[in-house]
Amino acid sequence: MKLSIIIPAFNEEKNITPLHNELLATLITLNYKYEIIFIDDGSTDSTFKEILKLKEQDKNIRIIKFKKNFGQTAAWNAGFTLAKGDLIIVMDADLQNDPKDIPLLINKLNEGYDIVSGWRYNRKDNFSKKIFSFFANKLRKLLTGEKIHDSGCSLKIYKKECLKNLKLYGEMHRYITAILSWEGYKIGEIKVSHNFRNTGKTKYSSSRLFKGMMDLLLILFWQKYSGRPIHIFGLLGFLSALLGFLAGITSLYFWFFKNLSFSKTFLPNAAIFFILMGINLLIFGIIADICLKIYYKDEEPYLIEKII
Ligand code: UDP
Ligand code: MG
Repeated sequence: MKLSIIIPAFNEEKNITPLHNELLATLITLNYKYEIIFIDDGSTDSTFKEILKLKEQDKNIRIIKFKKNFGQTAAWNAGFTLAKGDLIIVMDADLQNDPKDIPLLINKLNEGYDIVSGWRYNRKDNFSKKIFSFFANKLRKLLTGEKIHDSGCSLKIYKKECLKNLKLYGEMHRYITAILSWEGYKIGEIKVSHNFRNTGKTKYSSSRLFKGMMDLLLILFWQKYSGRPIHIFGLLGFLSALLGFLAGITSLYFWFFKNLSFSKTFLPNAAIFFILMGINLLIFGIIADICLKIYYKDEEPYLIEKII
């Protein structure tokens, strides 16, 4: 068995070496071969130099250097593609995650899970980050039906087969467990420790809530309607056209029975707007269907565990 530890780093020059030391202290207590994959995500400080220096001492280090900053999700994806391990662990480079939790993650996985997620139950971040996260987690649980507490915690362990069909883009690394649980994988959770960031800066601002919501919308669409987009677009189109029809009927009623000219109310405009919108949505649905037929040309929209 081999472990792959994937660590994205964007301007983390002072954290790389202490993190590597802490990691080694844990890894030597485990009976696993390992590789550490650092992804330098377009750092403008000496992060890359620090990683290169470490590679001279530790032959188990592999490095991916991005041409520019492509974001944490892209970095994870590149790491997953390169990883050769049977078990894949992801953690942050900023020492907020603790390598000492790795054996606990492995033990929990061995209880029969495909993925085990960390839960930063005693999270060491500022108030605004915690409050944003609180609402984002509530919304995610409500919309995805997923139960785990802290999908935003990077520190997780995956069996390699879980990641084979995963397509990540945007900032979807926060929803990996939701996507994988929809695919039928078993997700476990353990409480992990969390430290304050001592050096370097957080890479996220409050705009992450909006981006996170948009990503959530997309994954929900893929999960529920990617096989039948006309159901959602058709429904919305029908409702819009119905609203337009009702507005049209009402304006006719006013004109005929109350002698009220069409130009006196907004209803005729609303009727035209909503009916055209309804037709547009229907056409969107048909176009989405054509796009998805092309998308699924070479693959099926389901996963087979085995054929007996
Ligand atoms: N990170 C990255 N690319 C980015 C943003 C972040 O590789 O564009 C890395 C960052 O260096 C760190 C991890 O992702 O190792 C988590 O980022 P950060 O600590 O800023 O997030 P927070 O803990 O504040 O949510
Ligand atoms: Mg951090």
